[in-house]
Amino acid sequence: MTYQPENKLKIGISACVVGQEVRFDRGHKRSSFCMEQLSDFVEFKPVCPEVAIGLPIPRASIRQIINNGVITVSRPDGSGDVTDKLTRFGQESAKGYGDLAGFIFCAKSPSCGMERVKVHHHHGKGSEATGVGLFAEQVMQLNPLLPCEENGRLNDPIIRENFMTRIFTYQKWLDLQAEGLTKHKLIAFHSAHKYLVMSHHIESYRALGRLLARADIELDSLAQQYIAGLMQALKNKASRRSHTNTLQHLQGYFKRQLDEAQRKELSDEIIAYHKGLSPLLVPLTLIKHHLNNHPNGYLQQQVYLNPHPKELKLRYGY
Ligand code: SF4
Repeated sequence: MTYQPENKLKIGISACVVGQEVRFDRGHKRSSFCMEQLSDFVEFKPVCPEVAIGLPIPRASIRQIINNGVITVSRPDGSGDVTDKLTRFGQESAKGYGDLAGFIFCAKSPSCGMERVKVHHHHGKGSEATGVGLFAEQVMQLNPLLPCEENGRLNDPIIRENFMTRIFTYQKWLDLQAEGLTKHKLIAFHSAHKYLVMSHHIESYRALGRLLARADIELDSLAQQYIAGLMQALKNKASRRSHTNTLQHLQGYFKRQLDEAQRKELSDEIIAYHKGLSPLLVPLTLIKHHLNNHPNGYLQQQVYLNPHPKELKLRYGY
């Protein structure tokens, strides 16, 4: 069985990334991954902040300019300053993003870039890639739990998988909140995510367990601290080493059920994965096969085994 969301996830996205011709030169930055694979599972909520604040298509390009430590966004000659408009639009929009499971920004844009946006020195003397798009900055600041990523980085298989894991996890959290959170449900949620967290950040795996064991924190505060810790943990990319450690923990559940040859086969596959000789999918498939033959309720509920729809073809290439 693989994870399938009941409804499509709502994902905010820079409008040019879905192919809308909204860029200054009437171009777009269509992402084939987003539009051809991810779109089966998500409902995109496109937004072009520059068009939304009234800039035309086509338009003069704008950039971030720093002068005496103050960053503004305007045309290269300093005219047409849209700093306040972009910031206000970001603040207003961000308040309405409570039902989003993630946001995909267009890289490098002075409005939408998440990081490493070019900041030009006043009078055109060079630039540094240290900025954050004004719209993106507001969305991220006002929605600190929201998984965010840039279009170009999603071409990296590890970053892509990490982002997919975060958006599908966050959607489950939104669903849990919508149905009404109880301490029991919170603990069940954590229990199902244990091995997923372990594969991303083992210290968080321990810390989140300790947090939930505390009886002195009231539920709302506990839930907020928990989800903040979980989403932060999942930002760490799972490595070959941390996956190997997680796989070995899962392997431990089959000690008694498997015969010697089967145990050796599973061990060999985990080691082959660890050495980079096979993708993660190989030992995972073997574990799922053994789980089918030897059902275990605790393991079957582990999100780690199916964190996102298999149609997204993640976990194949590494
Ligand atoms: S990067 Fe953002 S502001 Fe620029 S065209 Fe795309 S959506 Fe519009």
